[in-house]
Amino acid sequence: MFRNERTLYKGICTLCKQSMISIFNPESLYKVFCSKCWWGDSWDCGDYYLDYDPNKNFFEQMKELQLKAPFMDKVVSYLKLVNSDYINHASTCKNCYLIFNADDCENVYYSNTVVNVKDSSDCFMMNNTQLSYGSIGGDGSGIYFSENCPESINVWYSKDCVGCNDCFGCVNLRKKSFHIFNEPYSREEYNKKISEMGLDKHSVNIEIQSMIYDFWNKFPRKYIYGRMNNNSSGEYIYSSKNAKDCYQAVCMEDAAYCQFITMPSFRDCYDISEWGNGAELCIDDVTIGEGVNDVKYSFGIWNNCRNIEYSMFVINSSNCFGCMNLRKKEYCILNKQYSKEEYFALREKIIDDLEKNPYIDSKGRVWKYGEFMPYDLSLFAYNESFATQYFSLTKEEIESAGFKYIEPKKSEYKATITLEDIPDSIKDVEDDFIKEILKCDCGKFYRIVVGELQLLKRFGIPVPRFCPDCRQDHRMKRLNSPFFYNRTCDKCGIDIKTSYAPDRPEIVYCEKCYQQEVM
Ligand SMILES: [Zn+2]
Ligand SMILES: [Zn+2]
Ligand SMILES: [Zn+2]
Repeated sequence: MFRNERTLYKGICTLCKQSMISIFNPESLYKVFCSKCWWGDSWDCGDYYLDYDPNKNFFEQMKELQLKAPFMDKVVSYLKLVNSDYINHASTCKNCYLIFNADDCENVYYSNTVVNVKDSSDCFMMNNTQLSYGSIGGDGSGIYFSENCPESINVWYSKDCVGCNDCFGCVNLRKKSFHIFNEPYSREEYNKKISEMGLDKHSVNIEIQSMIYDFWNKFPRKYIYGRMNNNSSGEYIYSSKNAKDCYQAVCMEDAAYCQFITMPSFRDCYDISEWGNGAELCIDDVTIGEGVNDVKYSFGIWNNCRNIEYSMFVINSSNCFGCMNLRKKEYCILNKQYSKEEYFALREKIIDDLEKNPYIDSKGRVWKYGEFMPYDLSLFAYNESFATQYFSLTKEEIESAGFKYIEPKKSEYKATITLEDIPDSIKDVEDDFIKEILKCDCGKFYRIVVGELQLLKRFGIPVPRFCPDCRQDHRMKRLNSPFFYNRTCDKCGIDIKTSYAPDRPEIVYCEKCYQQEVM
């Protein structure tokens, strides 16, 4: 709920008055600086502070500070971005557009949770990948409309294949080449069949998509998505050791209840949502990384921060408590600078005061020291936030839980071409197609951007008939959820803990039975 990943607005920088792309609704009351100003030296983050008032609740004072201290427009390491204004929760990216939770990417479009991905679009949960489109999970090159195909090259509409190349519509294959629907072909036959299919045509892909998921479901799948783990549990877990009940996470060691950990290393951490990259000894945080150590109950902390509590957007700092929007500071409380001795004494007092005078929100929820910040300190409405992607709630449900709701704005464009009038084959799409405004069935308008069109032409993939948000929704629906169930292996009957609910149609096997099944 603290993280707004995908809801971007056009806004005006409070400092330089230039326009900016921001995660803050322009109607919100916060001061927001464009990335160039926020990361520049034309302001002093130490100028915006509060003196702690022992007669007021500490979290109420954090709310006051939120209205004073200027926020960055997006959660990015701005100095490491090149030509990538429309990305968020990202670092080290070049020529990228609408990608989120991303690092080390170049020429990537409409993708989420991607690390070291190049020349790709519409990818989700992928790393070390290039020239890929419309896929979830896996790594390699030329992975199209596939799921969970690591170390693979040139695979289309395939699932759970490892180390394969030139395969179409295959499932559970290991180190195979030139297979179509799990049947082997010679190289010549394979290439002939693929070129005759007409994958450049929308009508052909629609037909394949209408049957492929049912075809995949005929094959058993493993109770967990994961590889190279040791004593670990959860879903979508990779290269981890002693990780308990985590979700979409890589390279963890001695961790529990963590999600969206995308970069090594990540050690001795509990209850963390997003990132990694050298995080150690952290608990109950959102978006932390780049060598942070001992960060608690905080959001957006990176670049070698140490001993940070109840803070937001604190960079390259140590010993901060209840701070926000700071760079290169130490011994600060509510952004005010103290001596080391004063800092520790006041920190003790605030913890004491919170015990006696906890924060109580409109629903009677009680917040003391030792838990994450109260929901009321979230800068975003529930339906702007990342939470809505995994736990979608209606307006009524959001409001009755005491969360903020924001009425989504309707964009005012006019479509210049109907979806029916888009050429069936990408071969018939001219370069000036980027001028067209398309209207998705959901009502949202979208365009095909230059780099995206170049990739579509290079891959021979038709123009997408859904807007980027709907495409992301479709990928989300394909994911296994972060809920775990007890069920039995569909072959040998042993007990397994899995994210496949017992009433799901898939055939689910334990590790041993699954390994006997793959070819
Ligand atoms: Zn500015
Ligand atoms: Zn749509
Ligand atoms: Zn079994």
